[in-house]
Amino acid sequence: MNEQELMALANENIMNTYKRFPVVMVKGAGQKVWDINGKEYLDFVAGIAVCNLGHCHPRVVAALKEQAQKLFHVSNFYYIEPQALLAKLLVDNSFADKVFFCNSGAEANEAAIKLARKYAHENLGADKFELITMKDSFHGRTMATITATGQEKFQFGFTPLLEGFTYVPFNDLRALENAISAKTCGIMLEPIQGEGGVIIPDDKYLAKVREICDKHNILLIVDEVQTGIGRTGKLFAYEYSGIEPDIMTLAKALGNGFPVGAMLATNKIAKAFTPGNHASTFGGNPLAMAAAKASLETILQEGVLDNCCKMGEYFLGQLKKLQGKHKIIKEVRGKGLMIACALDIEGAEIVNECMKRGVLINCTGGKTLRFIPPLIITKSDIDQAVAILDEVVEAK
Ligand SMILES: *Cc1c(COP(=O)(O)O)cnc(C)c1O
Repeated sequence: MNEQELMALANENIMNTYKRFPVVMVKGAGQKVWDINGKEYLDFVAGIAVCNLGHCHPRVVAALKEQAQKLFHVSNFYYIEPQALLAKLLVDNSFADKVFFCNSGAEANEAAIKLARKYAHENLGADKFELITMKDSFHGRTMATITATGQEKFQFGFTPLLEGFTYVPFNDLRALENAISAKTCGIMLEPIQGEGGVIIPDDKYLAKVREICDKHNILLIVDEVQTGIGRTGKLFAYEYSGIEPDIMTLAKALGNGFPVGAMLATNKIAKAFTPGNHASTFGGNPLAMAAAKASLETILQEGVLDNCCKMGEYFLGQLKKLQGKHKIIKEVRGKGLMIACALDIEGAEIVNECMKRGVLINCTGGKTLRFIPPLIITKSDIDQAVAILDEVVEAK
């Protein structure tokens, strides 16, 4: 089937929830992908911060192949070897004592919301159920997670929303303190807002939020679906703040492209869940666990975090040089390889032009270019992407 036929087939049979680029991707390796016509692209989107080790990483492919020949799925009626091993790896490398596995970021956040409510119901009082979340946040597309998401554009047309949520501006401690009431059971936030446009709070913000939570005896939930698994240069972004959350959610890069999510918590909080409270048929599936275990081991063992920090710094520096040359670039910001360029024009055309020249980038919130490449990129990849961006912006 040729490109045109395939796109027509997709448009005829797939629900209209995405505005797709007219390109059919068929292959990936490392930081590169190829379309159906054989055109090569340098991938600075990485499946939306998912393929942190690049496409088809050999260790992840090998783990999946091995597991596929052993066992696909049996359900959580039984113990599963790679599930126990991955849980131990996550616990050993985070604040958490226990893990719940699911299949996506939205599901991980659903689990977090349920656990927070259950814990509060049993330990703080049945009248404490309200979560404070941030304006311009993003937590997923299920009913509870669009409610948690502090952006009306994701909620419009889907009311009534879930009860028990209230919103404050990100990085505003006074507004946060003022929003706490007798009903509050926790605060949920992204350490760096991703879909909101790579919004980085003040250095001490997260530590202060932790203080507020302790003072009011409420829970701190960090959504590390995008910032986690090395994206910002540490395994988890909360590590930069010197504090520990009570609950954390993961997905995106956890399986390096294999769908998997996780919700982690301390023993104290996790105890609120008992058999029957929460479940997922596919959660902790052997294939997903094998992919995630291989991904996490590779990130921890192969200097990936170090490369992320070094390349992140280099990339940020090169983009700042571009900012000096081009007036339409208002600001360059980022941590590790989660980087953004704020423009004073719409970014969609720039994304299209970069794609024509063989570089995939993303635009979020209309005017913010977002760069979330695989963490294995090299200086020459960055030079290539920056040179093309330079050309494209110059022509604007
Ligand atoms: C992508 C994302 C989600 C939603 O994850 P899905 O796997 O698409 O459900 C939730 N939170 C954050 C911070 C995200 O970036």
